[in-house]
Amino acid sequence: MGRFRCCHAPPHPHRIRAITGRRFMKWLAASGDDRSMFDRSAKAPTELLAQPDLPVLGDPQTYCIFLDFDGTLVEIADRPEDVRIDPTMLQFLENLRDASGRALALVSGRDIGVIDRLIHPLILPVAGVHGLQRRDAAGRLHSPIIDQSIVEAIAAEAAAAFRLEPGVVIEKKTGAVAIHFRLRPDFEKPCLAFARKILRTRSDLNLIEGKMVCEIRLSGSDKGAVVDAFLIERPFKGKTPIFAGDDATDEPAFATVNARDGLSIKVGAGPTVARFCVKTIHDLRDWLEGLMAPEQRQANARNAIGMT
Ligand SMILES: [Mg+2]
Repeated sequence: MGRFRCCHAPPHPHRIRAITGRRFMKWLAASGDDRSMFDRSAKAPTELLAQPDLPVLGDPQTYCIFLDFDGTLVEIADRPEDVRIDPTMLQFLENLRDASGRALALVSGRDIGVIDRLIHPLILPVAGVHGLQRRDAAGRLHSPIIDQSIVEAIAAEAAAAFRLEPGVVIEKKTGAVAIHFRLRPDFEKPCLAFARKILRTRSDLNLIEGKMVCEIRLSGSDKGAVVDAFLIERPFKGKTPIFAGDDATDEPAFATVNARDGLSIKVGAGPTVARFCVKTIHDLRDWLEGLMAPEQRQANARNAIGMT
């Protein structure tokens, strides 16, 4: 069995199915009439890359791609500031953007400015803070008016509440405060209790729970709504969306993509409405790479071993 486990259950929003690459695309084209092909389709990514008839994303009528960042493109770090992106992943993203007709956007919980720094010098359309802010393909920023003094006050209160607890990390964002307890899993309940207490004091806040983090955020757009916003604009308009993410905060985007008959992909385990899954970040990259033209895949491979 290769890294892509396969199954052939009919589409169901609460059932995760693993991606099968080339054969999945054939199934999609055939409107699901011949699901039995999944039974014979277990392929390691390297075998898939050897197939001559992989679909090519260069056709502007095919797909647009939305990717979460942490846990989807990079491994999650104990502290959010410790995350670094591999240079080969940067090159891969650039190639994927070109292959998709520049219809590639990142949809992250981080600030747009932080994403820009992490993927420098690459500049992509980005949604930040779980959809609260968005920069479209033309570079226009879409964001509600944000009173950052609310963030400062909440962050100060959180810092005071957890000042004696090393490992509880308070992260200030635009319009949000994230409380990370990855280094202190024993503090999940106190952190959530603190967040819920804050929410009771104001009606314009909501709570977002992610992997070892809870986030108090000004109410506004979520990842699903922000994907919808991208989809009415060029170069995303009229294309079938692919969204990949790893966390509960990605579920609204999965639902949006499902409603548009797109490909929702969960990275890793856990309950989800995503229709497909891969086990790891590397599996996702391999699958996306398999959608590219052969020459782009070869360029990625050369880059990965330092030949370019
Ligand atoms: Mg994530």
